[in-house]
This record gives sequence, structure tokens and C-alpha cells, in this order.
Amino acid sequence: MTSSDTHDQLKKLPGVDFVLDLAQKDPRFAHIPRTVIVACTRKTLEHLRQNILAAAGPKINDPADDRTDHHIDVQTDVQTMLLEILKLSEKKLSPRLVNVINATGVVLHTNLGRALLCDDALENIQTIARSYSNLEFKIQTGKRGIRYEAVDELICELTGAQSAVVVNNNAGAVLLALNTLAQNTQVIVSRGELVEIGGSFRIPDVMEKSGCILKEVGTTNRTHLRDYENAVNETTGLLLKVHASNYKIEGFTAAVSLKELVALGEQKNIPVMEDLGSGTLIDFSKYGLAPEPTIWDSVKSGADIVTFSGDKLLGGPQAGIIVGKKDAIARIRQNPLTRALRIDKMTLAALESTLNLYRDEKKAIQKIPTLRMLTISFEDICTKADTLFKLIQDKIGDVARVTLKDMTSRPGGGSFPELKLPTRCITIEPSTISVSRLEQAMRLSENRIIGRIEDDQYILDPRTIQNGQEPLIASTLATILVKK
Ligand SMILES: *Cc1c(COP(=O)(O)O)cnc(C)c1O
Repeated sequence: MTSSDTHDQLKKLPGVDFVLDLAQKDPRFAHIPRTVIVACTRKTLEHLRQNILAAAGPKINDPADDRTDHHIDVQTDVQTMLLEILKLSEKKLSPRLVNVINATGVVLHTNLGRALLCDDALENIQTIARSYSNLEFKIQTGKRGIRYEAVDELICELTGAQSAVVVNNNAGAVLLALNTLAQNTQVIVSRGELVEIGGSFRIPDVMEKSGCILKEVGTTNRTHLRDYENAVNETTGLLLKVHASNYKIEGFTAAVSLKELVALGEQKNIPVMEDLGSGTLIDFSKYGLAPEPTIWDSVKSGADIVTFSGDKLLGGPQAGIIVGKKDAIARIRQNPLTRALRIDKMTLAALESTLNLYRDEKKAIQKIPTLRMLTISFEDICTKADTLFKLIQDKIGDVARVTLKDMTSRPGGGSFPELKLPTRCITIEPSTISVSRLEQAMRLSENRIIGRIEDDQYILDPRTIQNGQEPLIASTLATILVKK
């Protein structure tokens, strides 16, 4: 293309106002706010301008470069342009945060939103958020109240702790507790517990941000009480134990129990804190899962502070829960950081309703989705798998090899690092497209179905598939695999 061609084409590009005028008269744009139409018109025209300029760029001697044949007749293309603007506008208006179907079997999938809230929590969010509430108001006296009081009694009842405070998330809880109890002092941690939780939460970094001085003791696989003892000096402000949530060291290992650490703390007059990460109020060993330390155990061991997450094994909303001794919690409440990390009323409403269910463990297991998915019996999983298997077979016929396969699912969310839950999955080997293409098409489908690939098979794990989603999965598979 010569430079005068380029010039001609650029000149032929209609102005923003001209296109905007057409769009606004077009009934297809009636539901789109003007600001969105303006932005999308600008963007579309700019895109065309760039295309014309790119087509006129220095020609490389490359047989694949066929840009000169790519003639854009912008003048006659106003209708195409409008269609483009309409598509762009609608895309801009569609929500970014959308539901997906989790067929991965990972119950606490951090990327897919971790814990699903129970109905009680959802209903209470509506009740509280729709109206004014006594969030920080004492109805009895008409005086100002404290926000955490909605849940602190309940938390103490359920955990055996003296006092509690809740913040935005557990990372915040750890930061806040460290900063309150141990700023400018030395905090002793075992080398085996200097973990990274994912994202940017690493114990050494949080320690630094909270103003504490990290003192590592022991080795990666073995740490003894004498390691802590030898490290204690007049600058020591805290003994910290971190639950190594997402990994497990096996073989020749040794760790100091919280109880032993508390005894040492008492002897040396140094507070002890445990970051449980995924704290649980239920003894999962009763349900055939590996025993995880319960919050109750940690509190009973005598730790001054225990922190845990609201949306991991607890199965509630994103929150950081700090429980412990009265004076330690009182100091935390006084810290200005607490205001910066404060929990909002919707979370508080959801947390209160979720925790309330724990007063009756059977109810909690039935009603809290995380607990339900973790404790579902293998028999029930097989029934779910069978249902989905039959639906899929009915819908897709012989365009793929579909089988049932006994596999394992992972709890996720940094809980039960070594635990694999027996499950029965549906495996699909398509004959019309590749497995990776199938995985992608399911993900990009209207129902956004997230499965996984293992051994060149597409895998659907029924554990995390919610009731009612089965027909959607079967029909989406059919749309993708069955040629019409
Ligand atoms: C998950 C986890 C955290 C962070 O908790 P969030 O609720 O994700 O902020 C901190 N410590 C441990 C040990 C964890 O497992």
C-alpha cells in the first residue's frame, strides 16, 4: 500500500460524532448507557486507524506477510463498525465476576472463590444489608457499640477462648497479632514452618511488614524444644507456631507441640501464638478424614493467640478470626491496624449465621457446603457419579469414550496437605476433538465448567458439582462434542 492510499483510507474513516450519532439513533443501542457507547466508538475507530497504519507499515520480505492484500473499505463498513461497537458495549456491560461450575473436586479452591456460603449465611446477609442494623450500636442503652460483639461471645463459646476479634482475613489477622504483640522484638519460628501460603503471603515477609524480627530456629525437617530455648533472649517478644497448611514433611522429622511451646513461654514469660490457617471446629477424624488440629485443641493448649481463616475449613465468609487470652485480645482491639483491617457487616452477618450452625454439629455438616462436600460418603459420591455418567452417555452417544474411574480429590485451601479423598470421576476421551480443546471449550462455554486433564483424559469430579448442575454439564458436553 502506498502512503497516499493510507492517507486516503485514514481520511475516509468517519469521525467519532458521526458514528455516535448513528449508534444513538439505532434501537439496538437503546439499553446501552451513552458513556459506554462513546468509549466503545472511540475504541473501535482507533482500532481501525491502527489497522490501516499497520497495513502500511514497512513491508518485510516474508511470504506470510500478505498485508497489502488486506484492503479495508472503511466507508462502506459503517454497519460492520456499528455491529462491532454493539458487541464491544455489550461485553463491557456484562459482569466480570460470574459463577463457574467447579468440577475439579477441589473443595476449597482458592481461585474459584474458596468456601461456598450456606443458605443461612446468605439469607442473613440480605436481612442485615437491606436495612439499618445495630452494627456498632447498643440497642439497650442507645450508646455506641462494638462491631465484633455480634460474634465474639459465640466464637468464645465454640472455641473455649476467653476473647475474640475478627478482621478481614487471616493474613490480616496474623499481621495484626504480630504487630500488636511483638513489634520491634524477636519472634522465634521453626525453619520447618516458614511457609508460603500462596499469592504473596509468606511468613517471613508478613513478619517483616508487622515490624517483627524473625529468628529462625531448628532445621527444615527437625526442630526441638532446645532450639527455641537456646534462641530466647531479652529481645524475644513472641514464640510463633505456624500450621504448615499446604505441605507435609515426611520421614525423619521432629516438631515441638504447641503445648511444649506454651510451657516454655510460661517459664520465660513470653507469649505464644499459633497461626492455624485453616482452623476447624470439627474433629474430622470422626468422618474418616485425617485428624487436623481443632481450634479447641489449640486454645486448650494455652496459646495466648490463635488465628484462623473464616473461609477455609470453617466454611464461612472470608474473615480472619483471632481468639485468645483476654489481655492479648484487648491490646489487639486497641491497635489502629484493627480499624484498617475491619470486617464489614455483610461478612459479619454471614459469619454469625455460619458459626451459629456449629452449635449442632450434625446441622453444621448438613448445611455448610464445605463440610458437606468433605464428609460426603463414598457411596453417595458414587450415586452422584452414576447420575452424571448416565446423563452424559444419553446426551453424547459414541462421540467420546466415557467411563467411571475411582480417583482422589483434594480438599484444597491449605487444609489436610497429605489427604486424598476417595472419589469416583467421569473420564472423557473425545474422538472428534483433542482433550485440551474439550477442556477449553467447557471452560469458555456459557456455564463455564472447570474440569481437569489427567492422563490425557478430561476429568469431572462429582464431589464439587452442586445439585442441579449435572444436566448443564451433560448438555454442554453434547453441544461441544456432537456435530449437528
Ligand atoms: C491460608 C493461611 C493464611 C492466610 O489466610 P487467608 O484467610 O487466606 O488470609 C495464613 N496462614 C496460614 C497457615 C494459612 O494456611
